[in-house]
Amino acid sequence: MDFDLPAELESLQKEAVAVGSEWAEREQFPDDSWIVGHSREFARELGDRHWIGMTWPVEEGGHGRSPLERFVVFEALISVGAPIASMWMADRQIGPTLLQFGTSDQRRRFLPGIVAGTSMWCIGMSEPDAGSDVASLRTRAVRDGGEWIVDGHKVWTSGAADGDWCYVIARTDPDAPKHKGLSELIVDMRSPGVSVRPLADMTENWHFCEVDFEGVRVPDDNRVGELNGSFRQVMRQMEHERGGIDRLVSNLRLYRDVMASGLVNIDDPLTRQDIARIEGGYRVGRLLVLREVLGQAPKAFSAATKAYCTEFEQRVANFCAHVTGMPGLLWGAEYGLAGRVARNACYAPAYTIQGGSSSILRNIIGERVLGLPR
Ligand SMILES: Cc1cc2nc3c(=O)[nH]c(=O)nc-3n(C[C@H](O)[C@H](O)[C@H](O)COP(=O)(O)OP(=O)(O)OC[C@H]3O[C@@H](n4cnc5c(N)ncnc54)[C@H](O)[C@@H]3O)c2cc1C
Repeated sequence: MDFDLPAELESLQKEAVAVGSEWAEREQFPDDSWIVGHSREFARELGDRHWIGMTWPVEEGGHGRSPLERFVVFEALISVGAPIASMWMADRQIGPTLLQFGTSDQRRRFLPGIVAGTSMWCIGMSEPDAGSDVASLRTRAVRDGGEWIVDGHKVWTSGAADGDWCYVIARTDPDAPKHKGLSELIVDMRSPGVSVRPLADMTENWHFCEVDFEGVRVPDDNRVGELNGSFRQVMRQMEHERGGIDRLVSNLRLYRDVMASGLVNIDDPLTRQDIARIEGGYRVGRLLVLREVLGQAPKAFSAATKAYCTEFEQRVANFCAHVTGMPGLLWGAEYGLAGRVARNACYAPAYTIQGGSSSILRNIIGERVLGLPR
């Protein structure tokens, strides 16, 4: 087996590392730059470089490149902490969803802005009483002629404060069984009746928000896919969300910086074992992601990929905190590497919650991958 990249991918990787590093150094973006590193300017640059919609068909405005090329670019960008959050959700899951379930009119209206890096999207699934159990969400959309009137409350909506569009799951048939009455609507965040309140997370970051919809009018032309058929579509969308390289490399830059800092005593046998576990674990995670990228993973296996990779991410954050010792308790960017260690250790619990908690993913592995009885 030859795991090395072919020469043309290696040069693409080098280019992405150079571009990403330059942007990462412009401002102090937190390490989890794919979700908290917002820069519309960088999104536009990625659009200009044809690094958004890389694998989408050329006739749909994409760039017709291979999944491996996309993998190489985003592994490099996220690993160096490039601020890709303004385009990432649209590239990772909204575009692929529109390509699979959207009408040609929707693809014509929405894909060009995504590919150019000029439109920013957020995802309105979770609600205060419906996180893991999407089917129990209560946001309602009631038909009124050619429009839907949306009322409800979403929470943990990443990037909503800066979003142009929200991909909302709403209940369109209150009388149907709970997972059969949901539909998907694209809501213009500037519509009257939309209000956004950013929430501080444990690291004092404000990337996720509460979003209220009060009598928000949405044209039926913005309903994606089958009426009341969202549940199946969401499951597909979650596969895009769960199997990618973003779930593995958020802490890679921190790990490399800690390893290069002189803080790590590599003569200590226990530390050496930890390092071996991390180095080996990273390679295993990367292979799992590559199977997803190449379409070789079994159906629903992205649940296993995400569970493995995000639990690995937490191990990396804990290792960095452990070897940094007391200085890793210092809070604030002014403490440089120690401050980053503290921040990333505090942020780490999010990995195994966002995009589906590890318990839920284990349920999926049991039921849908292994076929165990419910
Ligand atoms: C950083 C971050 C960003 C996020 N961004 C977004 C976003 O952009 N858009 C969006 O819509 N949502 C977003 N979320 C929300 C996220 O998807 C939910 O937090 C997640 O699905 C869990 O839902 P919950 O918080 O309601 O927890 P609950 O569903 O209340 O779960 C609480 C606990 O119970 C466990 N549990 C629940 N049900 C079961 C079960 N059936 N079997 C076993 N265990 C169970 C869970 O594992 C968890 O440990 C984000 C979350 C975080 C942390």
